[in-house]
This record gives sequence, structure tokens and C-alpha cells, in this order.
Amino acid sequence: MTDISELLLSRIRDVPDYPEPGVVFKDITPLLADPGAFAALTEALAGLCLKHGATKVVGLEARGFILGAPAAVRAGLGFVPVRKAGKLPGATLSQRYDLEYGTAEIEVHAEDLGPDDRVMVIDDVLATGGTAEASLGLIRRVGAQVAGVAVLMELGFLDGRARLAPVLDGAPLEALLQV
Ligand code: AMP
Repeated sequence: MTDISELLLSRIRDVPDYPEPGVVFKDITPLLADPGAFAALTEALAGLCLKHGATKVVGLEARGFILGAPAAVRAGLGFVPVRKAGKLPGATLSQRYDLEYGTAEIEVHAEDLGPDDRVMVIDDVLATGGTAEASLGLIRRVGAQVAGVAVLMELGFLDGRARLAPVLDGAPLEALLQV
């Protein structure tokens, strides 16, 4: 494991049985509270954006905002929030997706992305991949290109990577940490 991986991993707290029994929640607040670790993470995510030729960063609500926005600034790119339904005031495109129980819906301002954009999607944790898959659907529907998906941590046992493969269509899924 590299020094930066060790640093990041050491600042993520496992919270068993949160928000429900059987789930181990990956709490990134200790990492955010450590300026050195947060800066290293920002630098790593910005580097991935530039490596894959992104022109915009899409952050997924809510922790994808915290990680994606500083990475976008560091890389000199614009930031576009993908929000839960009903939070954006302008004209939106929305996408529904299935959760374990029920469905969820996410939205993006249609005018914030277009065919000239190459988008890196950023979030903290890739679990089942449902949220990232839906966001890639939005990006494709506005006609933008997908530079990739970058996450702090991939929960490999949930196989989100396999779920994302068809929508990624060859674009990279980058995970700084894998468990
Ligand atoms: P999914 O759509 O299943 O890939 O879930 C991804 C979203 O749920 C991400 O935005 C994560 O922030 C959050 N999430 C899912 N599982 C966890 C977990 N074990 N720990 C922390 N966040 C999680």
C-alpha cells in the first residue's frame, strides 16, 4: 500500500450497523478534519481528472460535493452538482433508479452540461453502483462525454464495478482505496 493510501485509510472510520443493522458505514469526517489528508485526497482526485482529460467535475450529493468541489478547483475545472430530486431551481433532467427498497431520483441542471463537456464523476464511496450508474445516465442524456468515475473507496464485495461497466463503456473507474 502506498503512503497516501495508508494515510487516507487511516482517516476513515468504520461505523458498524449504521444507518441500519448489517451495514458498515465508511465515515470520512475524520479525513475531512485532517488538513493534510484532505489536501492529499484533493490532489489525488484532481490528478485523476487531469489524467483522464476531464473538463468538468460532477459531484454526487452529498459527500461527492465535499470531495468533488475542491478537486475541481485544484484541477482548474468547473463543478456541477447532481442533486436529489427537488433541490435544483432551474430546468433539470432527472433519472430514477432502484434502491434495495424502493427508488430514488437524482437531477442535474440541463444547462450546466453539454456536448463539449468531458465529465469526471466524483463520490466518496462506490457501493452497489446504483447512484453512479444513474448519474452517468444523466450525463449521457445531456450529450456530454464521460471521462470516468473517481471514488475515494470502492466496496468490492458489492460489485458496483460490474454494474457500472456497461454505462462506463470503456471509461475508467478509479478507486483510491479498495475494500
Ligand atoms: P450506491 O448507489 O449503492 O453505490 O451507494 C452510493 C452512495 O451511498 C454513495 O453516495 C455513498 O456516499 C453512500 N454509501 C453507500 N454505502 C456506504 C457505506 N457503507 N459507507 C458510506 N457511504 C455509503
